[in-house]
Amino acid sequence: MTLVKEEIEIQNVIFDRLTEYHYEQLVFCHDKNTGLRAIIAIHNTHLGPGLGGTRMYHYNNDQDAITDVLRLSRGMTYKAAISGLNLGGAKAVIIGDPYKHNSEGLMRRFGRFVETLGGRYITAEDVGTTTEDMEYIKMETDHVVGLPEMYGGGGDPSPMTAYGTYLGMKASALEAYGNESLSGKKILVEGIGKVGRHLVELLAKENAKIYVADINPKSIDYAVKEFGATHVELENVPSAEMDIYSPCALGATVNSDTIPQFKCDIIAGAANNQLKNDIEHSALLKERGILYAPDYLINAGGLINVYTELNGYNRGIAQSRTEKIFDVTCEIYKTATQESITTYAASQVIAEKRIHDIGQINLPY
Ligand code: NAD
Repeated sequence: MTLVKEEIEIQNVIFDRLTEYHYEQLVFCHDKNTGLRAIIAIHNTHLGPGLGGTRMYHYNNDQDAITDVLRLSRGMTYKAAISGLNLGGAKAVIIGDPYKHNSEGLMRRFGRFVETLGGRYITAEDVGTTTEDMEYIKMETDHVVGLPEMYGGGGDPSPMTAYGTYLGMKASALEAYGNESLSGKKILVEGIGKVGRHLVELLAKENAKIYVADINPKSIDYAVKEFGATHVELENVPSAEMDIYSPCALGATVNSDTIPQFKCDIIAGAANNQLKNDIEHSALLKERGILYAPDYLINAGGLINVYTELNGYNRGIAQSRTEKIFDVTCEIYKTATQESITTYAASQVIAEKRIHDIGQINLPY
């Protein structure tokens, strides 16, 4: 059969993209009855099965969904590797509005597709999916984590994410000030959601001077009333007088517009993809003498929490694994200084070395 020109172009586009960053597998899942249209991307399984959440989002087109799932799955490879986990990187997206198109049938059908991968991919909750969705998926496959405690899971991973972020921040203080104490430091937390709330609580216990910004006035009120935080208007965040900026809402808040305005010494937060452009903006931060704690390392507490479910959840084990974030953050800073590279580049180097050194070994999980 002869392929028409457009078909040949599509084929080349997809395989060129898989080749560029060494993706292993891209799986398209479709079910007419439930309306399921999902894509699972497995980036790398050298350290173990690919683990990453399932995002449900109303993408404008298939291309946007493919771009998102590829980018996110690659990020998971680095996050797992730098965190010392025996996991690879993978992610899934379901195309659709979670408020309109979700159903038990759709999630269970998706679960059956996950099952067909035989454990190469382990799914979890992400933006647009809920713990209840994971319960439906669990009815069809064991390759799902992030389950409620009554099902043997670790429950909400946000407190562990906040704890890891806090430790990454302390390691950054040690690097920048020669002392890990955050007492008296002016710390601006942007985004007082599931993670931000727990982070603010930890910072308050250490007598930091807390500043908060959020689009939701209720979140602001909570931090002001409970922890004596000071409210900063969102538009004043980049230029605010602060020692540490902690982005805990959306990504890309560290960019060409905001970096010249920052007066902080450290950026250490839980949001994913804080740098709008990883290479360009990590270099700009280095030039300005602002210490950047790589987001995918210091926000890995949530991943560590769900990873711990694989062998029977134990909060103490999850916590002690999360505590390693402090030492790894210090190691990144040491490498960055020794090699005269950005902290972002140093984290990539350390993650890639681990994949290279111990990858390909068939590790149990
Ligand atoms: P969340 O939705 O519970 O909280 C986000 C908060 O940010 C909310 O209070 C919201 O009002 C606020 N917000 C939204 N848009 C904003 C804007 N434009 N400006 C300022 N504030 C805004 O989310 P979360 O679970 O706390 O996660 C926060 C960030 O951390 C996200 O980037 C998420 O991807 C990342 N993260 C979370 C976890 C986790 O365990 N929850 C793990 C790793 C990474």
